[in-house]
Amino acid sequence: MSDRIYLSSPHMGGTEQHYVNEAFETNWIAPLGPNVTGFEQQLEAYFDNQQYVAALSSGTAALHLALILLGVDRGDEVICQSMTFSASANPIVYQGAVPIFIDSEKNTWNMSPALLEEAIIDRIKKGKKPKAIIAVHLYGMPFNAEEIVKIANTYDIPLIEDAAEALGSTYKGKKCGSFGTYGVLSFNGNKIITTSGGGALVSSNLKSKEQAIFLATQARDAAPHYEHSQIGYNYRLSNISAGIGRGQMEVLQDHVLGRRRMHDFYVHLFSDIEGVSVFHEPTDDYFSNHWLTCILMDPKKAKSSPEKLRLELEQQNIESRPLWKPMHLQPIFKQYPYYGNGVSDVLFANGLCLPSGSNLSTMEVDRIRETLLNSL
Ligand SMILES: *Cc1c(COP(=O)(O)O)cnc(C)c1O
Repeated sequence: MSDRIYLSSPHMGGTEQHYVNEAFETNWIAPLGPNVTGFEQQLEAYFDNQQYVAALSSGTAALHLALILLGVDRGDEVICQSMTFSASANPIVYQGAVPIFIDSEKNTWNMSPALLEEAIIDRIKKGKKPKAIIAVHLYGMPFNAEEIVKIANTYDIPLIEDAAEALGSTYKGKKCGSFGTYGVLSFNGNKIITTSGGGALVSSNLKSKEQAIFLATQARDAAPHYEHSQIGYNYRLSNISAGIGRGQMEVLQDHVLGRRRMHDFYVHLFSDIEGVSVFHEPTDDYFSNHWLTCILMDPKKAKSSPEKLRLELEQQNIESRPLWKPMHLQPIFKQYPYYGNGVSDVLFANGLCLPSGSNLSTMEVDRIRETLLNSL
């Protein structure tokens, strides 16, 4: 059997081990140290030093802290994109708050601005103004930031931008992660860059960064003993992991190019195949890192189905995966309010994510091409 081809595998640049070794040599084996600070500086430089970045143990932790910093509490309502990975919504429930799910628009697969506004108006009418909005740049595709930010501002509701999949993506030239009151990044093993596990909270002011770090390091007040006037968390990034992050930041742009090359490969491959379309940017305003390339198969026109294709790829030891199953369809979230138009249900039924790594070899790409052409 040939080696397994993964959907999205870690891709080291080469200098990561140098920073990790440095941590060992200097005994900075702790959730703080020169790599943590250095990694944060690189991320801040990536945002043209217009944003402050706190390095954390995961993207989920960053989302959780964003909600805490916005004062989201028991019984509050938080609006969240339905079509996403569950980690976007879980922290709402950690806080004892209520997720309100919003369906997607067709062209970006992300939160529909029209449904967002409809939901806000309806929730206010029902007596509760939502405390925050969590919008996601799914698969690296920016959401319609202009409309979403406008609505958030009109109703004065803070926006949390889940950019876990979108480091390297831009909307109208502005970087994803810098549109919201808070931006969230993830460096999990399958993301565009990885620290094995990690995340970051992005904000536009130093005070928010400091507060995030305070909460992420057990909320210790200034005192010689351990004094606590708030509940704290153990959410800081390890100095070892941050060493990997420093090396990865040096190759972020290469990874974006590599992923976009895979996307071009699929666009070309499927251009002559009936009933299969590759998810792409709706206009030039959108620049996706194409973290994952996804296809839609028209059930009336395509020769195969996403599940049939997935099994055929699996037979050749090639990983593919259905799209994120929307939160309003998940057993654990079914009971929560949902404002929908059916778009994400159709995407889930007809979509498939294909291997998209920036480190796939020519031989691996050939294997993918052959398997797909034989199946379709
Ligand atoms: C990966 C991911 C997260 C969570 O990040 P972790 O670092 O794995 O905790 C959140 N939202 C989305 C959309 C993700 O893809």
